[in-house]
Amino acid sequence: MMNSPVETIFYIIDETATILQEELSCTYLEAVAETGENLFQDDILQDEVSEVTKKRLQKSYEEANIGEQPNETIRKAFQFAILKGMKENVQPNHQMTPDSLGLFISFLVNKFITTEKQLTVLDPAIGTGNLLTTVLNQMANSNVHSIGVEIDEVLIKLAYVGANLQKHQLELFNQDSLEPLFIDPVDLVLSDLPIGYYPNDVRAQDYELQAKEGHSFAHHLFIEQSIKHTKGGGYLFFIVPNGLFESTQSQQLHEYLHKEVHIQGMLQLPTSLFKNEKAGKSILILQKKKEGIKPPKEILLATLPSLMKQSAVEDILAKIDGWIKQNK
Ligand code: SAM
Repeated sequence: MMNSPVETIFYIIDETATILQEELSCTYLEAVAETGENLFQDDILQDEVSEVTKKRLQKSYEEANIGEQPNETIRKAFQFAILKGMKENVQPNHQMTPDSLGLFISFLVNKFITTEKQLTVLDPAIGTGNLLTTVLNQMANSNVHSIGVEIDEVLIKLAYVGANLQKHQLELFNQDSLEPLFIDPVDLVLSDLPIGYYPNDVRAQDYELQAKEGHSFAHHLFIEQSIKHTKGGGYLFFIVPNGLFESTQSQQLHEYLHKEVHIQGMLQLPTSLFKNEKAGKSILILQKKKEGIKPPKEILLATLPSLMKQSAVEDILAKIDGWIKQNK
């Protein structure tokens, strides 16, 4: 049986990354980034590898014909390789955002943002770039300049390589996103936020959402930092824990949001996407306040059905469409 194009590219990435992993004595994920960079540069950039290995790699890269592959083929093939690498080395807060979430956020972004004008997008926890590139690949507006921030060196390298291969304009900052960010305000923020406590209490003092006692919630500080870097009228889409507004620090969050943004919606994602109910997440949609912009008549609240239940999914999408027509 013939392999699909995604499988073909995945096997090439997997095979060449495995060779590089051995020769460079690095992790599989690091090797995926190295092989991606080779594919992009159409060269073997690692001086350490032997001539025989160089020839083997070159032959595989030629078969990939990467310049001719559609963006989604490249993204999905990389996604499979990254998933394989992440299984070998599980880090709970480093997980890549899966396709199902990315595609749903793409649907929402295309409903809320209809401009053809140049758009700037920020993901302050860009990770591997899978969420951002999923949305960019589905966006009707192709005039987009993106910015990503990520603390992990390997993940940001994967984001860099993926964006290059998919020919997306992406500016990257390898730093703690809660330190000062040297970027101009953006039109749109998308982010699957890291959840939990932020250990740097000194830095947290710069935020209105710092905890009154003990460590602050990183996801609260990320929301504040993102709002600060958004233009008035700009939209923000966050993947947040279901219990965001039920925690000990939620009163403070509520007051802050009330002051800065119009809450547009909170859509609970199907529990089947998560390990258990406690790990369940929602999509929080905000619009930064600006003179002349009114809040929605009602907030869009819904629980999304399992994506397998086609007619229930269609009902929800119709409900969202109706809400957009009434409120936007
Ligand atoms: N959307 C990403 C993707 O598709 O790969 C996954 C995002 S993951 C849920 C959260 C990311 O936040 C992780 O990659 C983690 O390394 C990053 N992160 C955690 N704390 C951070 C911080 N203080 N500054 C910048 N990035 C941080």
